[in-house]
Amino acid sequence: MRAIVVSTPGDSSVLEYVERPDPAPGPGEVLVQVAASGVNFIDVYHRQGRYPLPLPFVPGSEGAGTVIATGEGVTDLVVGDAVGWANALGGYATRAVIPADLAVPLPRGLSPELAAAVLLQGLTAHYLTHSVYAVRPGDDVLVHAAAGGVGLLLTQMAKLLGARVIGTVSSEAKEKLAREAGADEVLRYENFSEAVREITGAGVHVVYDGVGASTFDGSLASLRPRGMMALYGAASGPVPPFDPQRLNVGGSLFLTRPTLGHYVATREELLGRAGELLGWVASGALKVHITGRYPLAEARRAHDDLEARRTTGKLLLIP
Ligand code: NDP
Repeated sequence: MRAIVVSTPGDSSVLEYVERPDPAPGPGEVLVQVAASGVNFIDVYHRQGRYPLPLPFVPGSEGAGTVIATGEGVTDLVVGDAVGWANALGGYATRAVIPADLAVPLPRGLSPELAAAVLLQGLTAHYLTHSVYAVRPGDDVLVHAAAGGVGLLLTQMAKLLGARVIGTVSSEAKEKLAREAGADEVLRYENFSEAVREITGAGVHVVYDGVGASTFDGSLASLRPRGMMALYGAASGPVPPFDPQRLNVGGSLFLTRPTLGHYVATREELLGRAGELLGWVASGALKVHITGRYPLAEARRAHDDLEARRTTGKLLLIP
């Protein structure tokens, strides 16, 4: 098999395309022939060592394909099943060993490419809008990086739930995409909290902030009293240490730093969220924007484009 391997943390040049022996599934695992792997910002954090992993490792938390072997004790999946996953390492490869518990059986007719494009970012948008802060009709919602992978899905889900969505983006082309996804208002980052106040008066009910360092202060300043700051990522860098008294001054605000794994903590929760998500994709209620397909060997280019803010929507690696 071929895979991308990281042997030392660093910039995109540490992503090496290599030949490896075929892996075998252990107990409770399945071996999958990968049809497509999703590229996500977390892959950048893993590569940089910001979220350290034992070295060497094959990056990639998301993918989809066909089961070609099952390990001992796997009873609910068989060879030939189409599966996707969103929270297991090793996706940047032609073959991946995945814990069967984390494999989501794909509905008939859903292409593995589409599954690899939507599972991780879609499950994230799902738990953020349904569980971290359950969006209600009439809520004001601020979505940063609204034309990004998670951002376009968050925008659509918040609209499906009846919210008014304000998005931030860095360019006119990104603004167009965010509007097409349903954003009611689209702002640039400069002084965005003032613009949010002008639009909403009291401030927003929730901020979904995956940008981190550069937006954090403005996000807090955009909230209404008792509003929820959902800091779910750090595309611009990590937020520095924080005095909780600022939540009091801001109006008894809530701050959470959630992560997907804790919101798909049981197989039941994973399959419940995935079933709803893939159902919306199949019905067309949710649009998936695949904007970049890169050969697996060109993972470096995919990372460079993502980090340089050149991308919108979803990037895939095709083995
Ligand atoms: P995106 O497609 O959203 O790409 C990142 C976007 O962030 C860029 O396109 C850019 O949009 C914006 N951005 C703002 N400042 C910077 C900067 N300094 N450098 C780079 N990008 C910047 O990526 P993903 O959808 O994969 O991920 C979005 C965020 O969500 C990430 O922080 C990721 O870690 C997080 N995440 C968290 C999860 C969780 O469970 N906690 C799960 C999944 C993702 P623009 O140019 O418009 O500003």
